Amino acid sequence: MADETALRTCPLCEATCGLEITLRDGAVHRIRGDMEDPFSKGFICPKGSTLKQLQADPDRITTPLIKRDGVHVEASWDEAFDAIAAGLRKHLETDRNSVAVYLGNPTVHNLAAGVFARVLVQALGSRNIYTASTVDQMPKHVACGLLYGAPSSLTVPDLDRTHFLLMLGANPAASNGSLCTAPGFPDRLDAIRERGGTVVLIDPRRSETVSHVTQHHAIRPGSDAFLLAAMCNVVFDEGLVDLGAVESYVRGLDEFRGLIAPYTPVVAERMTGLDASTIMTLAREFAAAPSGAVYARMGANTARFGTVNAWLAEVLTMITGNLDTPGGLMFATPATGTPVGPEAGGRGWRSGRWHSRVSQRREMMGELPTVCLAEEIMTPGEGQIRALITLQGNPVLSLADATKTDEALASLEFMVSFDIYLNETTRRADVILPGCSPLERSHYDLAFTGLSVRNVAKWSPPVFQVQRPTDDEILARLALILSGLDHRADPSLVYDGALLNVLTRAAQNPNSPAFGTDPLSIVSQIIGRSPADRVLDALLRTGPYGAGFGDDNDGLSLGRLMDTPHGLDLGPLLPRFPGFLQTADGTINIADVAFAEDLRRLADAVVETPTDLVLIGRRHLKTNNSWMHNLEILTKGNNRCTVHVHPTDADRYGVVDGGSAKVTSVAGEVIVEVEVTDTIMPGVVSIPHGWGHTYEGAHLSVAQRRPGVNVNILTSTELADAWSGNAALNGVPVTLAPT
Ligand code: SF4
Repeated sequence: MADETALRTCPLCEATCGLEITLRDGAVHRIRGDMEDPFSKGFICPKGSTLKQLQADPDRITTPLIKRDGVHVEASWDEAFDAIAAGLRKHLETDRNSVAVYLGNPTVHNLAAGVFARVLVQALGSRNIYTASTVDQMPKHVACGLLYGAPSSLTVPDLDRTHFLLMLGANPAASNGSLCTAPGFPDRLDAIRERGGTVVLIDPRRSETVSHVTQHHAIRPGSDAFLLAAMCNVVFDEGLVDLGAVESYVRGLDEFRGLIAPYTPVVAERMTGLDASTIMTLAREFAAAPSGAVYARMGANTARFGTVNAWLAEVLTMITGNLDTPGGLMFATPATGTPVGPEAGGRGWRSGRWHSRVSQRREMMGELPTVCLAEEIMTPGEGQIRALITLQGNPVLSLADATKTDEALASLEFMVSFDIYLNETTRRADVILPGCSPLERSHYDLAFTGLSVRNVAKWSPPVFQVQRPTDDEILARLALILSGLDHRADPSLVYDGALLNVLTRAAQNPNSPAFGTDPLSIVSQIIGRSPADRVLDALLRTGPYGAGFGDDNDGLSLGRLMDTPHGLDLGPLLPRFPGFLQTADGTINIADVAFAEDLRRLADAVVETPTDLVLIGRRHLKTNNSWMHNLEILTKGNNRCTVHVHPTDADRYGVVDGGSAKVTSVAGEVIVEVEVTDTIMPGVVSIPHGWGHTYEGAHLSVAQRRPGVNVNILTSTELADAWSGNAALNGVPVTLAPT
């Protein structure tokens, strides 16, 4: 049989690279970058080609598993869904808040989950919804929600046009970018420098990204807010404020200046370790650049002051004339987004519509912070979580305080997981429903087209068809159960509901190409091989570039994307204000009371005694959080799960390179191999996340041979960003001792 070629988007990380997959004899023969993908232009990282190994992994589950006498055994789909219905029934009948859902990071890379997980959550009607967003990014949502009125509309640095990129706590040479979709991110950094621009990296580590930047400055973990506030002060003090394109919308300038006044460059020097003159120079150069963007990412979000960090990053960009303008922080115009009109103003953002039962942490975007999950399971009383549904995540490895999380999962009365592996978390599940592999489902990036540095659209069909329920059907049948229906009911009930919901909203939106249409009369024009594809077609047709439902136009639809398998370039980012400004009064209040209140904690931090040694995370180009360690090709070679220790700290604590050390925090302790390196600043140690494949009952035969340690045994749910509740996984106080 002749070789065949399949084109698709890599679904593994946010970079969304185009892949060219060669199929031979019904199996993947080779995967390389798609040179004709208009966005990634042939770029892929070492993970992209390993979809071949993932597809062939014998540990991947393809048959439902039910736990019987403590052991997972294979079962039929009907048996599995019957067990789920029986396990959830009494909880659904007595208190829907007693059933929780956790949506893991991979759901954002899965079209079916992007469409139907929301339906499932709505069908459940519980307040106990948790997602990976409060592990790594909720501060950014909060900042954009409060400033611009729409927490899911996030600013992205206009990488390809900026003259000055200031990055805090980001390592795109390893992560390939996060909350900023830019395939070939390191090349784009190089391009900034090649066109005479400046790239500054602020990070306690001299990370892999350092070779792509103009300057690197190490600061103490968790001190980003002091640096950003000091830079804002310099901009004000030296008369450099220029609001540029957003001048007529911004309010609270004087109040903001008053709020940050105490955080001068001198204070910042003491808190960050970076000298005041460097901070002042940075501020002046950033303000003077023809364009500039602040990209505050993982290290700045997963910190005690995550919301303040995210807020100040937006405001520094704003007061230097760089918001919503080329080269600054901009908003994408995703093809599946909601079209907006020409006027500023919308419904604004409301949070805190309910609070967690135990710690009283606020709801944001319909979810509660993951730092609450374990206590909500383990604290008796009305509203206690007794059953959990996990969708493609691994909270035992990814949430703060792994020991508490695992104990909590063990105490549940019932748990069901939707996953492709029997991993450290799903081993606790009573039923595991195996989802499709990335090559067994169609793909479109609903989320990442909204975070992209160019506007793009690309749809990929499945490479392989499965002879078992697809992800659409699995999620629909779960939704039926949560709705109180028999899982054997027609899943079209769920599919049609989701589709009509999109069409109805579009018909009511005067800015949509489908405005005024009758949803029932146009539904027959929708195409798609799968239910999720049909919803995608509806979103595309009714979106900002949409074809609507006429005969004669060249707007977007799924059909058009089927005809352009390498993907469509829809152009550079465009200014989106005023229409995209969704605050209730159509202004941007940079001194919102929420920020002002949170800033008080920063003042307290100035008088705290500095911690002697703190822990930060780390990631590697060949890892993808926790879930790709079962691929030999990615994990072979030297042990990468080591603790990085600066030589002066190694001497101080008596640990040696290649030896092992005990790292201890208030939450727990781990024994880990030591790597002495001057790439990390003194007073800081680093352990990568996603490791720790040591839990009995999991079945990851490759990962378990090189298990590493679970860094979240050391992180604590007590350490969280106050406003967003995001876990503070960086800046964790620890001690170090030789073993
Ligand atoms: S950078 Fe991300 S999207 Fe691109 S090939 Fe690697 S894992 Fe896939």
